[in-house]
Amino acid sequence: MSAGDEEVLAAIERWIEREVRPIARRYDHADEYPHELVGQMQALGLFGATIGEEYGGLGLAASTYARIVTAIAAAWMAPVGIFNSHLVMAACVQRYGTAEQKARWLPRFASGELRGGIALTEPDAGTDLQAIRTVARRDGDAYVVDGTKTWITNGVYGSCFAVLVKTDPGAEPRHKGMSMLLCEKGPGFSVGRKLRKLGYKSIDSAELVFESCRVPASQLIGGVEGQGFVQAVGGLELGRINVAARGTGIALGALREALRYAQQRRTFGKPIAQHQAIQLKLADMATRVEAAKLLVEAAALKYDRGERCDLEAGMAKLFASEAGVENSLEAMRIFGGYSYSTEFDVERFYRDAPLMCIGEGTNEMQRIIIARQLLDRDPP
Ligand SMILES: Cc1cc2nc3c(=O)[nH]c(=O)nc-3n(C[C@H](O)[C@H](O)[C@H](O)COP(=O)(O)OP(=O)(O)OC[C@H]3O[C@@H](n4cnc5c(N)ncnc54)[C@H](O)[C@@H]3O)c2cc1C
Repeated sequence: MSAGDEEVLAAIERWIEREVRPIARRYDHADEYPHELVGQMQALGLFGATIGEEYGGLGLAASTYARIVTAIAAAWMAPVGIFNSHLVMAACVQRYGTAEQKARWLPRFASGELRGGIALTEPDAGTDLQAIRTVARRDGDAYVVDGTKTWITNGVYGSCFAVLVKTDPGAEPRHKGMSMLLCEKGPGFSVGRKLRKLGYKSIDSAELVFESCRVPASQLIGGVEGQGFVQAVGGLELGRINVAARGTGIALGALREALRYAQQRRTFGKPIAQHQAIQLKLADMATRVEAAKLLVEAAALKYDRGERCDLEAGMAKLFASEAGVENSLEAMRIFGGYSYSTEFDVERFYRDAPLMCIGEGTNEMQRIIIARQLLDRDPP
């Protein structure tokens, strides 16, 4: 990590202790959007964290970015989603956009002036993205978009989304008829409803509705139809590293809470940390955190070298998200009855963790991706 990256990480860590940790429980329980954190994240440059410096971003390596994500998620996972989904959209433009698109959109994304996310999922298509029904029909110098997206992070407060559409619904194979459009909210593009959730509170997950929405053809990412599936899946490599970093953060946060509590809470005349049953849990939790960190770093370093890393990102995502779930559950056990109290943070880690097993490709799909890669790389 460069000295500049170290400085950014140190500034973020100070910000977490000063601004994020103190408000997490209150905002989470109220399910209130943290507007002031958004302004602070903008000032810290987080909306441009992985966008190139030539476009006004911080140009951080994915490995540095992953450490930032882990540090924030160890205090409160939800706010990470605000810039994370935004950066997946930006990565799509940075990686696949035309020179004109990069020059036009990336500086506005980097400054946070224009914020948004990535809209792939539909009510009837999540894992099977090729089954989406949102259609973009060419009409002169525009596309006319009709369809509904759901579960879209930043759906209410974001204003620009990279939207996966079908430009040729009859194409075979199906992915050849898919494209990605940058859509700004306006006539024909509205929020259907905000979705209520178990965890990942405070962050807006919403249904987005397109009704004869005209989108300039110049906003077709890459300028060529039929590339959308590849672009969406390519963007998910970074997305998976991010989710893995978030899972690691949850696992770490749960470990920290459990370590502290286990040394304070006494039973049978001694701190519960002195009981071997609790020590075994703490040891397993700490080991999972370290393993998750290493897997995330390995995937991020490969991404930074510009190498294909779907195998590594898949392994990191799978392991780290499960580590988040396991550690948060173990922390609940260590806290005993108090784990059920809303006066401690472990119940939030426990509610937030399972999302990491679902987002950016479920863990079932990660296993399938990993296995396919293994078989491809080592044929009989
Ligand atoms: C809080 C939240 C935020 C989200 N944010 C976004 C966002 O910003 N943008 C976005 O586009 N989406 C977002 N999503 C959607 C998320 O990416 C999808 O929920 C996820 O991809 C799974 O799709 P699904 O829910 O339709 O499940 P399904 O595809 O219906 O899968 C259901 C189950 O079947 C399994 N399954 C499916 N196919 C196979 C197969 N071939 N082999 C084995 N098992 C299989 C799955 O693993 C899963 O266990 C978000 C979801 C949530 C809950």
